[in-house]
Amino acid sequence: MSRTTDVIVVGSGLAGLMAALGAARQGREVRVISEGMGCLAIGSGSVDLLGYAPDGACVDDPWAAMALLPATHPYSLLGSDKVRAALAALVETAARHGLGLRAAERDGTPRNTRVPTIMGTLKPTYLVPDSFDQEALAKARHVLVASVRGFRDCRPALVIDQLRRYPDWADKNF
Ligand SMILES: Cc1cc2nc3c(=O)[nH]c(=O)nc-3n(C[C@H](O)[C@H](O)[C@H](O)COP(=O)(O)OP(=O)(O)OC[C@H]3O[C@@H](n4cnc5c(N)ncnc54)[C@H](O)[C@@H]3O)c2cc1C
Repeated sequence: MSRTTDVIVVGSGLAGLMAALGAARQGREVRVISEGMGCLAIGSGSVDLLGYAPDGACVDDPWAAMALLPATHPYSLLGSDKVRAALAALVETAARHGLGLRAAERDGTPRNTRVPTIMGTLKPTYLVPDSFDQEALAKARHVLVASVRGFRDCRPALVIDQLRRYPDWADKNF
C-alpha cells in the first residue's frame, strides 16, 4: 500500500464522509482514518439545518433565519449558496444509496418540521426521509411509542410523558 495520498480525512462522521466523497469526486486519492463511533450511528435519519436562532427561538424557515445570523456564524462564513450545494450533494448521495431525503414543507415551501426525539422532545429538523409523513404525524390521534429490546436509551414512558407537555400533542392518545 502506498504511503502517500492526496487527502487524509480524520473521522468518518457526516462531515468526514462528505469531505472524503467531495475530494474523491474531484479526482483526489483519499484515505479516511477513523476511530470510535461517531454520531451517525445514533442519528434519526433526519438532517437538521438551522433549528434554533441565536436567542434560542425555534426556527421555522431556516433559509430566512440564516440571513439574520451574525457574520461569525459558520453558515454566514460559508454563505447560503454553499450550504444549499452541500445539502444537495448529501441528498443526491443518499438517493444513490437508496435513501430518499427531502426538505420538509409547509404550503409548498421548504420549512423546518418538528420530529419527536428519543428523549420525547420535539426538535426542528429540515431534511426528512421520504417515508416520513409530516401531515399524518400532526393529525394522528393515536400514537404508539415503541422501543427495541436491548436498546437501553429509549424509554417509551419517558418519551410519552415529555411529548404530552407540548400543547399540540397533549390530547393525543398514547
Ligand atoms: C444523540 C444524538 C442524536 C442526533 N440526531 C441528529 C439528527 O437526527 N439529525 C441531525 O442532523 N443531527 C443529529 N445529531 C447531530 C449530528 O449527529 C452531528 O451534528 C453530526 O454527526 C456531526 O458530524 P461530524 O462528522 O462532525 O461528527 P461525528 O459524527 O461525531 O463524527 C466524528 C468522527 O470522528 C471519529 N473520531 C473522533 N476522534 C477521533 C480520533 N482521535 N481519531 C480518529 N477518528 C476520530 C469518530 O469516531 C467519528 O467517526 C445528533 C447528535 C446526537 C449526539
